[in-house]
Amino acid sequence: MKIVGPFTQLLTLDKMPLRGSLKDEQLEIISHGALVLEGNNIIQSGNFEELKSQYPHAEIEEIKTPSVALPAFIDAHTHICFGGNRANDFAMRNAGKTYLEIAAAGGGIWSSVQHTRTASEEELLNSMLERIDFLIAQGTTTIEVKSGYGLDKNSELKMLRVIQKAQEKTTATIIPTCLSAHTLPKDFNGDSKAYLQYIIDEILPVVKAENLAQRVDIFIEKSAFGTEESKAFLLKAKALGFSITVHADQFTPGSSRIAVEVGASSADHLEATSEEDITFLAASDTVAVALPGASLGLGEPFTPARKLLNAGAILAIATDWNPGSAPMGNLICQASILATYQKLSSAEVLAGITYRAAHALELSDRGVLAKGKKADFVIYPTDNFQNILYRQGTLLPSEVYISGKKVLKNG
Ligand SMILES: [Zn+2]
Repeated sequence: MKIVGPFTQLLTLDKMPLRGSLKDEQLEIISHGALVLEGNNIIQSGNFEELKSQYPHAEIEEIKTPSVALPAFIDAHTHICFGGNRANDFAMRNAGKTYLEIAAAGGGIWSSVQHTRTASEEELLNSMLERIDFLIAQGTTTIEVKSGYGLDKNSELKMLRVIQKAQEKTTATIIPTCLSAHTLPKDFNGDSKAYLQYIIDEILPVVKAENLAQRVDIFIEKSAFGTEESKAFLLKAKALGFSITVHADQFTPGSSRIAVEVGASSADHLEATSEEDITFLAASDTVAVALPGASLGLGEPFTPARKLLNAGAILAIATDWNPGSAPMGNLICQASILATYQKLSSAEVLAGITYRAAHALELSDRGVLAKGKKADFVIYPTDNFQNILYRQGTLLPSEVYISGKKVLKNG
């Protein structure tokens, strides 16, 4: 057993509502706070001096400089397993080239598919582990990772096996998602229904048998899959025992409704969500996941996070880190920029990258610093939590803990 502290401020994120707007006054902030840890978990949070007298035999890991501790962050939507690089797409898009012009020049998602198909497992694994280390250094210790650059049985399974191997090499938690329905591969001659049936018949049974993922995702959009075929696909995936998440309403509205109708755990993107869709989402248990990194990467509007929260939705924020539309991967930077544009309180942002993001991934063991929860937390070298978002991603954690063990110490 050990006590870590004292923290100038300990933000537990505990006892806060799952849905809707939040005010900063709702944050539980313990001054001169500390955490009591045993094994992987938190036994108690509270005042440092009181905990020391309550647990006189506990080992003390003393923090001697001003510090703020809070739950480690959860990135509920990434595509960090990929081959190649799309810097030329980014430059062409910024120079005014269209999606079709970029694709004709050898860019677009198909270039990521080709690079991922030809990359060795070792190459994919090593580049993914570098990205995981980057995320841990930013304080993110739970990372969802999608397949979706393979788009055929062997390559999709290769991606999911690499994601599984990455889990063996890191103490961060990796949550794999099968996104074989990312886009229609060229190999299917435009027959999207046949490809979706191929995923159901050929890919998902192996994913299930090898326990490679518990979640299935699809990109519903004019350029990808239609609403009706997607709904049929998702219901079949659900019948096979998978949890569902959806890339919804990125450029056109309406598909978040499909996510709600099939009982998806989350509907992600939502940049183009309509008022009607917002009302529908807010009345559901489907988490609305804003992806400001995609807005920043494409120069598109932000997800209407303010309206979603006002309507009572459960809002999480994730990076969508991918080689094409969201190359940054810095969750705090993106979340703080989203807050500026959407007028989000610090409590709403922090909830969106901790316990509300945990809910999007159906994880109930993390996201708050409370008794019995996993001891994943970050320590910032500052005396006021407001500095974390104010510094827009440039203030880095001084220490990161995963399962009660220090995995990173900066400076
Ligand atoms: Zn995505």
